[in-house]
Amino acid sequence: MRLVLLFLLSAQAFAGGLDRYAQLVVSDSSRTARNGVRVTYLGTNGYQFEFKGRALLVDPYFSRVDLLSVAVDSRIQPNVSCINDGLRHLASYPDAVLVTHGHFDHLLDVPLIMARTRARLIASASSVDLAKRAGASSGDPVKPGDVRRIGPWTIRVLPAKHDRLFGKVPFDRPAARVNMPHRAADWNCGEPLAFLIEVNGQRIYIDSGGTPEQLPPNQSGNHRMDLAILGVALPDSRARLHAALERLQPRYILPSHQDNFFRPLNAGFQFGPLTDFSRVQRECAQQNRSRLILLDYFKPWTLLKAAGSKSQNPKPETD
Ligand SMILES: [Zn+2]
Repeated sequence: MRLVLLFLLSAQAFAGGLDRYAQLVVSDSSRTARNGVRVTYLGTNGYQFEFKGRALLVDPYFSRVDLLSVAVDSRIQPNVSCINDGLRHLASYPDAVLVTHGHFDHLLDVPLIMARTRARLIASASSVDLAKRAGASSGDPVKPGDVRRIGPWTIRVLPAKHDRLFGKVPFDRPAARVNMPHRAADWNCGEPLAFLIEVNGQRIYIDSGGTPEQLPPNQSGNHRMDLAILGVALPDSRARLHAALERLQPRYILPSHQDNFFRPLNAGFQFGPLTDFSRVQRECAQQNRSRLILLDYFKPWTLLKAAGSKSQNPKPETD
């Protein structure tokens, strides 16, 4: 794995930013509150969703550990000043932090963010365990099929698979030495999860990538997704993109986890060395009822309800 990462380090080319795709980048023109779900991209696979003063975080990661530290297996730790900078853009007290899997670029910052915001953690059992060993005071271990209702949010936990990097899921085993996680490899993947978030009668699907063997639930017909945030960092997740979109039938497609997360956030969005946005565009172009969008770091965009949709407050379901 280290050799692979060293190769990546040497292959890390400047792949360009969002400028070329300015027509796809959406953001709110004013900060006036509207009746919708405000989505803020935090870089990597991190998002904040806001609705009527409540907030939810997914995979918040601000430290942006450099690739060399990962490649040579040196100690990594959350960068407090990066986290403070990131939190300045966010709501003070999010209801929860959802985490898709245990890799450092999803979970490393979460214990500190929880301490600062008092948000509860919702993640797989192994990710909750890792987070606790890294200092998190609590955690709600979930598995596919679980449902959590917190404030305006209904969170459905879905199964997911992690992309392979050169034939293998990176950091897929708990390291024997782990007590407190110190190195990138200690932040092992665990069971990957996807989430379906329902709020305000709108539905948002989010994962951090995937493979063709595990597709999102079938949502065609009357159950279109309003927004599908799909990780596309690696070839596996792009290979499943067409089938995933067929199932989700989203109004908006937001490809995710395609920035170079080894560079600091303040250096701006740059595509990662293993991404292929042209392919993502081609796959999305086949979905003529869906609109492909991109978000820039910390520039919120509001997901409004579909014209003609009525259910302002859908009836709560019983599980
Ligand atoms: Zn990962």
